[in-house]
Amino acid sequence: MSALAHGFRIDEEKCQGCLACMRVCPTHAIRVRQGRARYTPERCIDCGVCLSSCQWGAIAPTTSSVKDLCGFKFRVAIPSPVLFGQFPAGISPAHISQGLLMLGFDAVWDFAVEISLVDRAIKEYLENWKGPLPLISVACPVVVRLVQVAYPRMVDQLICIQPPREIAGREAKRRYSGELGIPRDQIAAIHITPCQAKTISILEPAERVESNLDGTLGISEVYNAIVASANTMKAEPEKPPKAVPIRSAALLRSCLGDGLSQVLAHHRYLHVTGISNITQVFDDIEKGRLRNVEFVEAHSCWSGCAGGNLTVANVYVTLSKMQSLLDRLPDMDRETLAEVERRYSTEDFGLGRPILPRPARGHSGNLSERVRAVREAEALLTKLPGLDCGLCGAPTCKEMAKDVSIGDALLSECIYHSNDLQRSRESKRIPKEK
Ligand code: SF4
Ligand code: SF4
Repeated sequence: MSALAHGFRIDEEKCQGCLACMRVCPTHAIRVRQGRARYTPERCIDCGVCLSSCQWGAIAPTTSSVKDLCGFKFRVAIPSPVLFGQFPAGISPAHISQGLLMLGFDAVWDFAVEISLVDRAIKEYLENWKGPLPLISVACPVVVRLVQVAYPRMVDQLICIQPPREIAGREAKRRYSGELGIPRDQIAAIHITPCQAKTISILEPAERVESNLDGTLGISEVYNAIVASANTMKAEPEKPPKAVPIRSAALLRSCLGDGLSQVLAHHRYLHVTGISNITQVFDDIEKGRLRNVEFVEAHSCWSGCAGGNLTVANVYVTLSKMQSLLDRLPDMDRETLAEVERRYSTEDFGLGRPILPRPARGHSGNLSERVRAVREAEALLTKLPGLDCGLCGAPTCKEMAKDVSIGDALLSECIYHSNDLQRSRESKRIPKEK
């Protein structure tokens, strides 16, 4: 199985070997050996926790840059709803959309319609589902990878419906290609993202089909340009922004956690955020304790996408701004409703292929090999001090024992077993009297 693509990279030159990233990684994907951090690609779920923990700037997201847009004839920005809650008072959604046009985009796509379409498709899928419950949303790519890597027996519970940003990319290309006569592969659909994890769902979709999107730009990458453009516009009130602002509340509601809950009002629905909370819920699902829940919407970031690691504003300020914008918008305008009705019966929202498990190294191979590795790791663990100090470069003694059992580390890398320590113990030993 090939290594997974990821939405970030570690710069070994900048890495100071401080162990901070290794200590916070929820899947124990990072090791620090020879003073440099490295991650095991098949264990990493792209949660981005390590990015925020590195004080040395050694871990950076691999989003696209504005320059990457130059190779396309027509460029469509598909902004996450979170973008609209990022800016100071006085910078309106119209200013923000206009700022994206000034950056080099030719159009800004409001994907309220696609959100409504996907909500409906999820409801129908759930009502026809005969397999194990609960079903799990695939909107957050981290959650999908977490299931693939750590809960492989639950992959069938991932709902096979594309997220709205993918449907938006497909529709934007179809529409502009038809209207402007430009081939689809000359149209770039770029998601303006609150987190680096969305990049991986484009680079390597879990269902192994090609993404409809061509890349991502982090909110933090477009923020300053939008503020500068808004300030210029405000200084010239005779030239108001031309870009179309948000059409309806449906766009913002999806990020405030009450979009799907309204659609699934008659179903048992759980919304959970934060990777530690999600693992608790998934542990319970695996143990069969949550069979009475029908649908779980999970987002790796605390408070959902508004807490993404490529945002600029405080998460609570963002949520409050989005709520106040939402209160001023129509629930669903007639035009949006008509489009949802027209497209729902004709479009396919399925993932195309099922999502499969991604076993980590040491969890693959035939049964006897796996049993041998587990036994060897258990035996090695008894030789380690159980301090979980991390100085060997593995986050815990248990992980170190597993690394040694699969040949990724040597027992002598544990300071307790290191030659230096052995020598110093020997030198301190009081010689027996003859
Ligand atoms: S946090 Fe990780 S990547 Fe950053 S300097 Fe420390 S060990 Fe290196
Ligand atoms: S992105 Fe998350 S899972 Fe991947 S190495 Fe960083 S902390 Fe670990």
